[in-house]
Amino acid sequence: MARLSGKTALITGGAGGIGQAAARLFTAEGARVALVDRDEAALQAVVQSIGEESASYIVADVTQPEQVESYVKTAVDRWGGFDIYLANAGIEGMVSPISDYPIDVFEQVIAVNVTGVWLGLKYVIPVMRERGGGSIVITSSTAGIGGTAGMSAYTTSKHAVIGMMRTAALECAPMGIRVNTVNPAPIETRMMRSLEEMRVAAADDSEVTVERTKQAYSARIPLQRYGNPEEVARLMMFLASDDSSYCTGGVYMVDGGRSAGSP
Ligand code: NAD
Repeated sequence: MARLSGKTALITGGAGGIGQAAARLFTAEGARVALVDRDEAALQAVVQSIGEESASYIVADVTQPEQVESYVKTAVDRWGGFDIYLANAGIEGMVSPISDYPIDVFEQVIAVNVTGVWLGLKYVIPVMRERGGGSIVITSSTAGIGGTAGMSAYTTSKHAVIGMMRTAALECAPMGIRVNTVNPAPIETRMMRSLEEMRVAAADDSEVTVERTKQAYSARIPLQRYGNPEEVARLMMFLASDDSSYCTGGVYMVDGGRSAGSP
């Protein structure tokens, strides 16, 4: 039997690389999905390619409390509730040392990557409690367990959601709701293209190219390559499904071995 048969998932960042891969895999495994993103054109394309019988979308900004409350309600109205919440929307911010990092960019990264996740939990938990349980998966990062020079806002945000996840796991266990993070290393999506380009611009050195930057990132990964979005989606599916019924409060790496070495 399909592993997510009869389940419904609410996925933020559903128009992006990883969110979209999760939506495709979850629906292929029998789930119905409601995708949330601020990019309507991209959402429409994903829903069309999956099919409206198993996918719907909601345009919302995860940083705005009333929009979060409203997307949760719309998903419940459309699919009658949900069993899985993937708090996955995120932005990378800039590559810049802390002393030069613009305050407004720092605040925006925290708003999307931290407040956006917390708001999601605030409105999703009561819906799942009423349903009798569920699984919440938060997309953190290898930047959630170690420092990354030049990426103070992103690194701060991805550490923060691990603390948030652990607290939510403790609060939610009596309700039958499991909460975990997935922590990817560099994955082939728009976000890595953006980071590579920012690294090149920050270096201001013609020897530093996008290709060489990618090689340098890959060289720090024992498997010597970026992951692809489907490889992250498969871990998300495990955590979303009943296969992981005894897993809560966990930090799950999907990083080609990046975190295995000494710091
Ligand atoms: P992506 O840019 O393809 O997708 C992110 C999505 O989030 C986009 O569709 C974007 O429109 C959406 N989004 C951003 N701000 C939003 C807002 N305020 N409201 C609603 N939607 C918003 O990048 P991705 O690689 O798919 O990233 C997904 C998640 O994975 C992010 O949390 C990211 O930090 C995390 N992650 C990515 C990598 C990587 O290398 N790509 C590695 C580790 C963790």
